[in-house]
Amino acid sequence: MSEPVPVPSLFLERMSRLLGADFPAFAAALEAEPVSGLRVNTLKLSADEFRKISPFPLGDPVPWEASAFVLLSSDISPGLHPYHLAGLYYLQDPSAMSAAALLDPQPFDAAQGQPGERVLDLAAAPGGKTTHLAARMHGSGLLVANEIKEKRLGHLAMNVERWGAGNVVVTHETPERLADHFGAFFDRVLVDAPCSGEGMFRKDRGACLDWSPEMVAGCAVRQRNILRVAVQLVRPGGRLLYSTCTFAPEENEAVIAALLDEFPEFEAEALPLFPGFEQGRPEWAGREDREALRAAVRLFPHRLSGEGHFVCRLRRREQAASRPGRRPRPSGRAALAEMNRLQSDLWRDFARDALTADFTADRLRVRAERLYFVPEEMPDFGNLRLVHPGVWLGTFKTGRFEPAHPLALFLRPGGARRTLNLSPAEPALTAYLRGEPLPAPGEAGWTLVTVDGWPLGWGKRVQGLVKNHYPRGWMT
Ligand code: SAM
Repeated sequence: MSEPVPVPSLFLERMSRLLGADFPAFAAALEAEPVSGLRVNTLKLSADEFRKISPFPLGDPVPWEASAFVLLSSDISPGLHPYHLAGLYYLQDPSAMSAAALLDPQPFDAAQGQPGERVLDLAAAPGGKTTHLAARMHGSGLLVANEIKEKRLGHLAMNVERWGAGNVVVTHETPERLADHFGAFFDRVLVDAPCSGEGMFRKDRGACLDWSPEMVAGCAVRQRNILRVAVQLVRPGGRLLYSTCTFAPEENEAVIAALLDEFPEFEAEALPLFPGFEQGRPEWAGREDREALRAAVRLFPHRLSGEGHFVCRLRRREQAASRPGRRPRPSGRAALAEMNRLQSDLWRDFARDALTADFTADRLRVRAERLYFVPEEMPDFGNLRLVHPGVWLGTFKTGRFEPAHPLALFLRPGGARRTLNLSPAEPALTAYLRGEPLPAPGEAGWTLVTVDGWPLGWGKRVQGLVKNHYPRGWMT
């Protein structure tokens, strides 16, 4: 067996200097077992409902996120359970849940006459915070989940699809191109920045191998550059939340101090101090002049059940003088079209035959023969690279409409006319997830395969055999 990767001594020296009397507890926490969390998909079921059906033991609720629990160790791997494939939950470090919880996007509220907000998750892959934001928005408004790195898009798209939210658009862009197109369009912007990852050392010792003081310095430069662009995307009166999973003050307080110096229209907002949360430490970054940095929060593994994190929320003042808010520029080309007559007929025939769920016609758009259900507010994305303009409902083929996997995951129990329900322990379920056809008598046609009632994917029944339409990339 290979030796465990040691935690870098320069990192430990710095933390010892900063934490003083707290350092032994911190160092001991680094040697303890990492904490895992499970966040329930409240678009599909409540935390209480999930607790009743949970196949594995759940620990305490996460204090800052009512839909989440600390995971207890168990023989069952929650990541491999069919409920995970059905999008009933997301596995996430409890500390990482603080970002979306503290950004606190507001959903559509009919009583207050408040529309769902426009939210941007600028660095979104693999989608932990995107799925969290989508649930907090109750699937309303608009959530743009952007990822700059192509190789990380697949995971982001898959996690968004599994989540089954109707308000998410996935883009593959640079922050600069988004800012150039949208300007100050968003009510809330999340910058979950690429960082040196010190807060994850306990979970991923391999991360220690990449760490160096030079890497920390490099990350800080990149973070400042990203934020310089991100500020342009926040409307006056809107919020920007900056988070990292590192302890380095150079990447946390110092980055925020530089932002406040350069953009006086932004101010740091006080955040609720949940049990174990600590205030930001301006003196660690040599910025005692910026008392406002205490509004940020630091999460330490020796103070709470979770890994290391830093969160700071900034508000752009209403009277911001520079860069007034504007609507995104129209592109002059329709990347997303309305259905033509033939497509409308094919979709209507499919929906009548296979679905009970309703899809409002004004949110249906076509791109390259694919039909999408787009967010209720769908701005023009111009020439931006759109990976997912919404929920992919299916594809128009010659003379027919074929449903797509994301449609299955978007449906709720009872959303399809024909279902084949399986239980997690049934061999047929394993066979389905491996791509095998299932003998099952019943009415012919598109059939939703479910696990304990929760949609998992499509099959097409022909003469008592349900042909498998579970996508190859999802197979276990
Ligand atoms: N928010 C994600 C989640 O909760 O699952 C994790 C995001 S991860 C900490 C940071 C992301 O920033 C990575 O996906 C990385 O590809 C992206 N990134 C790297 N360089 C970037 C840049 N210059 N601009 C924007 N994003 C960048």
